[in-house]
Amino acid sequence: MLGATHFAAGAAVYTLLRRPKILGLTVAFASHFALDAVPHYELSFPWQVLLFALTGAGVSLLAWKLKDLWVLVAASLGILPDMNWILRISETLDAFHSFIHFKKTSLPVIALLVIEAVVFAASFLVLIRSSRNKKNGGFRL
Ligand SMILES: [Zn+2]
Repeated sequence: MLGATHFAAGAAVYTLLRRPKILGLTVAFASHFALDAVPHYELSFPWQVLLFALTGAGVSLLAWKLKDLWVLVAASLGILPDMNWILRISETLDAFHSFIHFKKTSLPVIALLVIEAVVFAASFLVLIRSSRNKKNGGFRL
């Protein structure tokens, strides 16, 4: 999925599971592989950068509202495998990432964009609700 979606999803997962903190951070990292296994459409690099910048600003604002900078750590863990794809830091992570990433789909592009939009919107909804319910300890259903 898009880097922006992974960043938002990592942050959202963390806000749901941040006690204990290590669980939220671990699941934020693992969320990357679960989302990449889902068929999706890859936008061009300039669009990815633009959407990531906007998402980064939004997630940063919500982390500030939550007074929890670990949200940004979790978001970064959510996008880490894609950063590794670019920076080539770990061959093992790169190989696992490529293995788990969906390969081919017959779904139309519009369906792939809808999947991406739903995951992105759901992640931001969780983040917004968490920031509104911070006095109660975070997200409430
Ligand atoms: Zn990926």
